[in-house]
Amino acid sequence: MAPYVGRFAPSPTGPLHAGSLVAALASWLDARANGGRWLVRIEDVDTPRCVPGAAETILRQLADCGLVPDEPPLWQSARREHYQRALDALVAAGRAYPCACSRKDIEGALAALGRTQERHGELVYPGTCRNGLHGREPRSWRFRVEPGRVAWTDRRLGAQSQDVEREVGDFVLKRADGLWAYQLAVVVDDAAQGITDVVRGEDLADNTARQIQLQQALGTATPRYLHTPLVFGANGEKLSKQNGAVEAETRDPLRALNATAAALGLPAQEGAVASALAAWVAQWRATYNRSP
Ligand code: GLU
Repeated sequence: MAPYVGRFAPSPTGPLHAGSLVAALASWLDARANGGRWLVRIEDVDTPRCVPGAAETILRQLADCGLVPDEPPLWQSARREHYQRALDALVAAGRAYPCACSRKDIEGALAALGRTQERHGELVYPGTCRNGLHGREPRSWRFRVEPGRVAWTDRRLGAQSQDVEREVGDFVLKRADGLWAYQLAVVVDDAAQGITDVVRGEDLADNTARQIQLQQALGTATPRYLHTPLVFGANGEKLSKQNGAVEAETRDPLRALNATAAALGLPAQEGAVASALAAWVAQWRATYNRSP
């Protein structure tokens, strides 16, 4: 098995909350349990959503908890030329194409087909521009997905599959506002960093099939995946920055870590942070077998 390289890849749209700390701790524990390296990537491609200072706060919160990356963090905002190169390669291979459709156009095309498909607020793209723009102005760039189901095994959730063409459609790689899409950036960077194991929140599991199709089109390896349980607030909603989750208070790191560990089914620890982390590494190793 390739030497383990894991990562935590927060978007700096605000400080870590109880939910994102779960993904951070789980990815760190998995890396340590497998004698691997643990990297941090700041996913600041969606610049309008980024909050100045949030990345520094996140790194400070991680350090408070004893979660220190083995290399300086990678910032996606510094990697645009790599995303462009990947897009160029996909275009050359016939796997990406320019798209002239606005959301309204897509709604119109779906209505004409008698379909009103939407997935997490995203319309299922019906492929209007697959065969050329017919004189319309390009706006975004899309990935030409392969038909059929993509199957993969999640280390916690078990067998998963998705028909990307029917459930998502050709998805955006470069947005109409010129920003790089999460799907492309994450696949290019997981490959560049040699990530062997992705450990992240279950809300992101739905992206995996898309990312596997992109990896195959770019000829890069598919990592193993483990999606961690989500944390729900008192109102029963998933904790997220969008619904006002509060900053994880890491000035008392053991308290923050004990709450986080509980969400992962790990027992509370007392004493020093380092010994608590060591105890959880041993328990993690016993719970999550890495071989798929
Ligand atoms: N940046 C993404 C987020 O904070 C996570 C990406 C990933 O782990 O693949 O939701």
